[in-house]
Amino acid sequence: MAKQPERSPDSLFGVVALSLPFKFHSGGTEGLTYSIPEELSERAHVGSRVLVPLGKREKTGVLVAITRDAPSIKTKVRPITDVLDPAPVFDVEFLRWTKWLATYYLTSWGDVLAAALPEGLKPETKARVFLTDFAGDGRNRKELTPQRAEIFGEIAKHAEGISIDKLGKLTNAKSLYATLHALEEVGLLRIERPLTRQPSVKKETFVELAPELAIGSERLAEVLNDLEKHAPRQANILLALVQQAQMEPDNPLTAPLLIKKAGASQSTFKSLREKEYIVISRREKNAGESSTHPTSAGEDDISKIILTLEQQIAVGTISGALDREKPKTFLLHGITGSGKTEVYISLARKVLSEGNGVLILVPEIALTPQLIDRFKRRLSFSSDAEIAVLHSRMSLGERYGAWRALAEGRTKLAIGARSAVFAPVRNLKLIIVDEEHEATYKQFDKSPRYHARDAAVVRAAMLNAVAVLGSATPSIESYYNAREGKYELLRLTERAKRAALPIVKIVDLRTAENRRDFAKAKIALTPELREAMQKRLEKKEGIVLFQNRRGYSTYLECLTCGNAEMCPNCSVTMTYHRQRDQMRCHYCGFVTPKRKTCSTCGAETLRLGGTGTQRVEEDISKAFPEAKIVRMDLDTTARKGAYHKILSTFASGETDILLGTQMVAKGLDFPRVTLVGVVSADTSLNIPDFRSSERTFQLLTQVSGRAGRSLELAGEVLIQTLQPTNAAIEMAAAHDYDAFFESELKDREALHYPPFSRLILIEFRGLHEAPTEERAKQFATLFPPRASFYERMGPAPPAIAKLRSEFRWHLLIKDFKTQDPNGEKIRRLITGALDEYQKRFASPHVKVVVDVDVQGVG
Ligand code: ADP
Ligand code: ZN
Repeated sequence: MAKQPERSPDSLFGVVALSLPFKFHSGGTEGLTYSIPEELSERAHVGSRVLVPLGKREKTGVLVAITRDAPSIKTKVRPITDVLDPAPVFDVEFLRWTKWLATYYLTSWGDVLAAALPEGLKPETKARVFLTDFAGDGRNRKELTPQRAEIFGEIAKHAEGISIDKLGKLTNAKSLYATLHALEEVGLLRIERPLTRQPSVKKETFVELAPELAIGSERLAEVLNDLEKHAPRQANILLALVQQAQMEPDNPLTAPLLIKKAGASQSTFKSLREKEYIVISRREKNAGESSTHPTSAGEDDISKIILTLEQQIAVGTISGALDREKPKTFLLHGITGSGKTEVYISLARKVLSEGNGVLILVPEIALTPQLIDRFKRRLSFSSDAEIAVLHSRMSLGERYGAWRALAEGRTKLAIGARSAVFAPVRNLKLIIVDEEHEATYKQFDKSPRYHARDAAVVRAAMLNAVAVLGSATPSIESYYNAREGKYELLRLTERAKRAALPIVKIVDLRTAENRRDFAKAKIALTPELREAMQKRLEKKEGIVLFQNRRGYSTYLECLTCGNAEMCPNCSVTMTYHRQRDQMRCHYCGFVTPKRKTCSTCGAETLRLGGTGTQRVEEDISKAFPEAKIVRMDLDTTARKGAYHKILSTFASGETDILLGTQMVAKGLDFPRVTLVGVVSADTSLNIPDFRSSERTFQLLTQVSGRAGRSLELAGEVLIQTLQPTNAAIEMAAAHDYDAFFESELKDREALHYPPFSRLILIEFRGLHEAPTEERAKQFATLFPPRASFYERMGPAPPAIAKLRSEFRWHLLIKDFKTQDPNGEKIRRLITGALDEYQKRFASPHVKVVVDVDVQGVG
């Protein structure tokens, strides 16, 4: 203890960012102020986690500022209980960036920081104290001050350790934490928190449906329907379990995750347990996904690859920017197969060889095994850099280990999906965002609702680093930014292996011939598509078929009254799944047996409509009984390893046809594929959202890009549609991104949609309709529907007015960028309105969610 801090006991104050609901942090406050007790002052650093009292509880937060100025409000300032980290976990630059995120996305700083910490550093469990071996028989005790001796003595009585809470009660000691740290420093005791105990945290509590509530069983439907009426929160929990059991049967939910996901409390959970509707077990968490991925036949030896001229120009330009160490964002627009990944690899190598850090973001780890493999192979050979692949199936221990390795600079390269944007890469000089247009980069289901691409651009800018956004179909926003000079545009216009882009044909489903054939053959494939498939089957070339709906039929309608069977929890139609002869909701997972009579009029005239992948699979086997088909969608890939197995059988030619949802559209590189068939391009066009054209264009371009990836075998794409003259479809067929961009931009401008405005969604949610509607309407009275810088739509219920048993009401704000360039005006308006709402109207039964830069408005 070198320097003696000043004697005034409350001379230091700390601002602590906590993850709290809006009412605690509105009005621009960054956190809550606490005093720093003198005995903790040496340990307290900006960027360290601290334990603080809040009401009757204790919470963990992050110390974001230390000051000598007493807070202006003369309420009693409580002291920080403990400083958890001897050294800060966040540096000043990281704090600055996360603060920007909190401000921009209208959430609390603490929330963003909580998202940035690996699970293992969020100590929900209480710390325990143990004596070390060195403490031995207690001979050391003689040298201790009486207070230390008392505490030491108390711990000595508990061989299995004692919680700090209990110790506090037993000893009544003042400055307990500081004393403990002092004893820890001289090696007499050990304080264990998730931080230090992490690698041994392996067992978790899992929750599953009771066997008597098997999926699809009458009993389950009965129980659900009953709970729906009397205990909707309990129903919600069961629904979450049903959904999990369907989507990932091998991967049951942990108790805390379930409680969080279903938005329920411990008590609802307990009731279900008492009724024996759920079973609970404690066991080890599954290890991660197996790492044996099918690799593409297009595997290239490093030494053989010579960058094409276009690639070299891109690498050269970006390298120049890296050397200048000025912030800069590039948009790399390269057609499918143009070798964007090679550009990323060259750049990453350069940065790593200079001893600096690289962060690579991909839309979804599970769906990009080929890409990850390539990075691993190509980068770990050339530099001895370790690669941290951050994915959701990592165990807590693995995640924590990777986090530490990055934070300590042992690992310099991180690859991961959305949340990896928070990876603590040291000396970060380059951030790459692959497929920057993908919607998965936006977190929409929980706070903070950030966009990882935009967050990455800002993070890079604040660090004087370079961001590279890559895509074959850039988002309208990014392309616009490039055109406006905010980003620098780089193009790759040719396929790297000089293979030509496939020839794309639009097949009009409305022609008399196709309609007649459809009526007769009752299958989803037109004669033209069947003929093209026949040819490929004969030559043993690969076929990819794309249908963006899973299940068998997407609705069950009554021919007498026109009613379509809806999910009781969500206002969407239920999808028929043939295998178990049941109807399922794809939003909440609700399952019921298929009805024989209409639920509205009782007639027996029910008809299945809308084509899902299961139906297409059946149609293909009708048309080609000999062909080997493999289906890839959420239903067939739920089992661990299934995804990889499907792809490897297809890569090797064991299967002829790969059929699937958008899972087959992305990133796959199989040279043997010469035909891509789009069963219906209309499914994504008909979604009522301002992005539906953009999404359709992207999907069609991406899926077309799977064809003709080798120089030897030319590719062909057939797109079946009822809207053959739709601009998105025509321009995707013509491989004309620029024309699509121009036409889409005009529409966006006319309707004040992004990139001309910032869309902010304010959602009200509740289990009851009337109060939800009322709150939304009350909120709307707090500011006028339009002003010079914004325009408001709603309040109104969205297209899906009820979701997972909750009613929804939306207000959508278009904040005009010309009038409010950085969004400051609208943020002030909304925070003010939310404050006012908290004071006058808020109800515990209606949740308010704010989503800045909301992706879809459905
Ligand atoms: P993209 O990411 O733009 O879709 P990829 O980087 O996957 O394109 O490249 C497509 C294929 O071309 C891959 O098999 C890759 O190994 C190969 N490739 C890329 N650049 C070159 C090059 N300069 N010379 C030869 N092959 C290349
Ligand atoms: Zn539902």
